Amino acid sequence: MTNHLSKLAIHTITNKPWSTEQCIENYARAGVSGITFWRYSFEGRSPANVGRQAREAGLEVVSVARGGFFPATTAAGLQRAIDENRRAIDETAEVGAPSLVLVCGAVPGQPLQASRQQIQDGIAELLPYASERNVILAIEPLHPMYADDRSAVNTMAQASDICEALNSHPNVSIACDVYHTWWDPDLEREITRAAAFGNFTAFHICDWKTPTTDFLNDRGLMGEGCIDIPSIQQWVADSGFNGHHEVEIFSNRYWSMDQDEYLKSILDSYQKLRGS
Ligand code: ZN
Repeated sequence: MTNHLSKLAIHTITNKPWSTEQCIENYARAGVSGITFWRYSFEGRSPANVGRQAREAGLEVVSVARGGFFPATTAAGLQRAIDENRRAIDETAEVGAPSLVLVCGAVPGQPLQASRQQIQDGIAELLPYASERNVILAIEPLHPMYADDRSAVNTMAQASDICEALNSHPNVSIACDVYHTWWDPDLEREITRAAAFGNFTAFHICDWKTPTTDFLNDRGLMGEGCIDIPSIQQWVADSGFNGHHEVEIFSNRYWSMDQDEYLKSILDSYQKLRGS
């Protein structure tokens, strides 16, 4: 069983009702091998202490979510985003995670092309800082339904284009989340491309329910929806990716249930997926 879970990581937001300490304790006890901290998990705590607690419990600190939100319509807004991302990079370094996930941002009404340029420029500006602190900035393309205000980067191809425009700098990469990318006819090719350039460093899993009643907070457990996760998982493995499979589920339905029961369901659906 432990072997089956050796690549399983969970995002703290998946069990949002739990405190940071409860997530660490309960994931470790269940045999989960990695944890990704959402930044709210550091509130009132030192990220360095949180990282130490996780490692002492036997968990690998996989990543921090999230930085990004670069686009703005004013110079002050652009600067605020850079400053906030520096803080996120600091927290990532302090907790001892290798990477910070970027939800890149968008401004309603601003042309997407302008937002994309601001995203690339913002990442370029942060790269020396991220590099000094040994933090990889992992661009997470978001489903196009979020192109209005969450991310102007909506495909793996766009994320790879940014990485390559930044000369495949070792401190920039891509986080592929099945919820955002499963529909993309080029997904297999783009996973292979990103990995070939060394730009593929994170893999997020959950499922897309039919019907989905809330496009933010009604994600499903793996196997509960229509995403062909086994195929995507195979493409990711074939690309040479050997990192964690990070369960990231926003769900009002699951947040309202008993979290111990829910964690059992997560392990169950993950093990079915790995056996498939
Ligand atoms: Zn994700």
